[in-house]
Amino acid sequence: MVLRGPKPAEENPLERANLPLPEPAPGQVRLRVQACGVCHTDLHLVEGEIALPKLPVVPGHQIIGRVDAVGEGVTRLRAGDRVGVPWLYSTCGECEYCLGGLENLCDRARFTGQHVDGGFAEYMVVPAAFAYAIPHGFPDDQAAPLLCAGIIGYRSLQLSEIQPGGRLGLYGFGASAHITIQVARHWGCDVYVFTRSEEHQRHALELGAAWVGQAQDTPPAEIDSAITFAPAGWLVPEVLRVLRKGGTLAINAIHMSPIPEMPYSLLYGERTVRSVTNATRQDGEELLRLAAEIPIHTDVELYPLDEANAVLQRLKQGQIQGAAVLQVA
Ligand SMILES: [Zn+2]
Ligand SMILES: [Zn+2]
Repeated sequence: MVLRGPKPAEENPLERANLPLPEPAPGQVRLRVQACGVCHTDLHLVEGEIALPKLPVVPGHQIIGRVDAVGEGVTRLRAGDRVGVPWLYSTCGECEYCLGGLENLCDRARFTGQHVDGGFAEYMVVPAAFAYAIPHGFPDDQAAPLLCAGIIGYRSLQLSEIQPGGRLGLYGFGASAHITIQVARHWGCDVYVFTRSEEHQRHALELGAAWVGQAQDTPPAEIDSAITFAPAGWLVPEVLRVLRKGGTLAINAIHMSPIPEMPYSLLYGERTVRSVTNATRQDGEELLRLAAEIPIHTDVELYPLDEANAVLQRLKQGQIQGAAVLQVA
């Protein structure tokens, strides 16, 4: 499913096309894609809200596939291995960010389904060093959302500085939050979930939320840390209103509407507001290990690859429960 130029999701931006079978370059493997999750970033991408350095492009960056061809020099993977591919496709490996444990901030990083063709397709190629072994026990479709919703949620948790047993606020309850809450509960946190959708509120309670409400509501206690998942800048002052002194808000968004002007008193008290930008390979390895250990259960809605446009529309309307996944093979 190819994007030739940005368009609103309602105008069916993705076109079905026949593309040549990609050949793995040295260091790469080719995957037969089994399943690919659909993420809010895909929606921002097709609608042109984030950069489109390659057009046409095949989106999709929560990929589960089986290695079916191995490029020169690859020893890490073999034909038949089941692997996952996330948003981070490659980095330069030599800049100060790469060398300093922050490869997610590499200026020369390339992203799956943005700079290179991704997983809304039957085949793709990926550097072997950026593909992850997927733990046993996860069917392909349930593993797919771990690759972005899971990994970026996990990095957000870390950047929110939540401590075991702390009070965590989650704003928005889509694919990423429904995985993040499971990790936070595993750490013994009380989780307060702020979302308009009654369906999403019910889902949050099923997954162990201590309280649910809307962004304008006041929870039973001040929160220690918060993560916003909705790309809505107006949430920031709402979060700060209920965040304790010294607390941290991590913004999990690649694109966001402007943050409104607000009184400094909301931030005063040593509150921190920070963004979450991509994720490192270490985040991926750690999240996948945790996913098997907890174990994380992902709720997925499955669709055929052909229906990618309809899925993007449902995602835009907030109609997906848990994570949307395209079943490719
Ligand atoms: Zn994503
Ligand atoms: Zn770099």
